[in-house]
Amino acid sequence: MAKLCKECSKKLPQFSHSLVCEDCSKIITEKYEEIKNETLEKFVLDKKQAGYLKDKFEKDMLIKFYDEIYGKLLSGKEISKNEIEFLLKIKDSLGLSVEDIGFDERIKPYIYINFIKGKNELPKFKLDAFGFNIILKEDEKVHFAYAATAKEIKIKNLGYSGGRSGVSFKIIKDARYSAGTHKGITVDEDKLLQTSKGVLIITGKRLLLSPLPGNRPLSIPLDSILTYQGYQNGIEIYKEDTKRGFFFEIDNIGAVEIFGLCLSFLLLGVS
Ligand SMILES: [Zn+2]
Repeated sequence: MAKLCKECSKKLPQFSHSLVCEDCSKIITEKYEEIKNETLEKFVLDKKQAGYLKDKFEKDMLIKFYDEIYGKLLSGKEISKNEIEFLLKIKDSLGLSVEDIGFDERIKPYIYINFIKGKNELPKFKLDAFGFNIILKEDEKVHFAYAATAKEIKIKNLGYSGGRSGVSFKIIKDARYSAGTHKGITVDEDKLLQTSKGVLIITGKRLLLSPLPGNRPLSIPLDSILTYQGYQNGIEIYKEDTKRGFFFEIDNIGAVEIFGLCLSFLLLGVS
């Protein structure tokens, strides 16, 4: 039996892989572009438009739609607070998940950036999601936390000169920050010795590893940090007193960036 166009029921060519005829495909593509342009222009994706997209397209195209809007907003500048809200509305309207849109990598660092630039302080972070309480010192505020594996650096340095590693966290007022693009190199495993595993927490006073059962805690006061460097897969910290180095392996570049932004703000300030 001949296959029929899903839209107009016209007979499709015998070996067509498409579900719609050429004419209908053209109409749908044009409508897609129209909705995209209107969304960018009016800064809203209405219910009818979202419904049309969900009806005509599979998830990969809905993600592409989101990506195109994101790319347009990002071109030439950072993503603002309003734009983040706009993007999250599009995500919800199209029924996409935080994973689909790469929220942690592509949006979350901007929440920190906007907050820092706007208020000249770091956002507060709720540890509740991790299901534990840490004992904080007086006036100690938590700014971010993420699962990490702590590794001691066995050799004097990892052998990467500054120019080769691409993760830079310095926040400069009025300068553009581009989340997820700081793809530095990864750190060589055999130069590291695993010491602990848990949740790495940054507060206004220290970096703290709250350990998983069977692991030991680790606390590094911020004023003892000599250098820090971000990599694709984690963050490297050298302590001033002992010159001991730690590598906190983190499997999310967005989380690495946020730790870097927090360290940059707490150690260097916005300048
Ligand atoms: Zn058709």
